[in-house]
Amino acid sequence: MKNLPFTKYSLTGSPVACPICGSYKRTIISRFDRRFKILPHSKCDDCALVRHEFMLSDEQLSEYYSKSYRNDYQWVNSGPTSKHIQKRFSEAKTRLDKLQPYLTKHPKVLDFGCGSGEFIELLQDSGALASGFEPGNLYASFARDQKGLDVQNCGWENYERKGKVDVVTAFHVFEHLTDPLTAFKKAISWLNVNGLIYIEVPNMANALKLKGFGSLHMAHTIGFGRYNLELLGACNGMVPLEIFDEFDISIIFKKGQPRPLEEIKSNSIDEFNNVTSKQVNKQFWLYSASKLFGKRSKVSF
Ligand SMILES: [Zn+2]
Repeated sequence: MKNLPFTKYSLTGSPVACPICGSYKRTIISRFDRRFKILPHSKCDDCALVRHEFMLSDEQLSEYYSKSYRNDYQWVNSGPTSKHIQKRFSEAKTRLDKLQPYLTKHPKVLDFGCGSGEFIELLQDSGALASGFEPGNLYASFARDQKGLDVQNCGWENYERKGKVDVVTAFHVFEHLTDPLTAFKKAISWLNVNGLIYIEVPNMANALKLKGFGSLHMAHTIGFGRYNLELLGACNGMVPLEIFDEFDISIIFKKGQPRPLEEIKSNSIDEFNNVTSKQVNKQFWLYSASKLFGKRSKVSF
């Protein structure tokens, strides 16, 4: 019953200002998520960040994560499956290859939202002193108890850090948050003077242009493009050291003098140009039809 289309989720939040630029000006780009559940999304008129129109409170969100998230999106209500672990190891390897040129011989690295801990494990094997934290109980206990990794079971608000690190990593975490600015600030507080922050998120501009509202769901409270991610760093005095602009977007940030915020916002608005409710709707059907008939969807806008 809970996945019945054209109905609302049991948890509904309320409208909020843009979690990055603070603007209230926004435009609805979809009424539905990929399950045809009613879950309106809007795009910020000033920086193009996509967000849930009715944002859940932190309490509601943690209720959702502790009770429904893994079950909703990975169809398991137990710990990580071997298929999941295999996939995560392969992703962790790619990410470590990207970060490696910037690592010292025995770096201290903290993985923010470390899941079942594959990235931490690889880092340790490469000589790093790696640790992490993860709010999901089953994943955190798997990493800590079964693998013996230095992992705390908590969210970023409650994480207690003794000593600074050289790098904070966060892979596919920031799109789940309601207050990415404060979370980013917190990550900076864990860093050494010349520390780096390496963040990867899905690129919502790419996803919407490919799948339309098929790319929207309950777990992703905000959707970044390449420039929204740069803006998040810029608002905190950090600049890209390297950008991996693939289908997903990842940036390794270092401290520095950012470009003017208005310039970054303007780039972001260009990136999301034509991401309108009409196009998001149309692209969903084009993509669905192409899947049905076995053809690859072309990006039509
Ligand atoms: Zn904004």
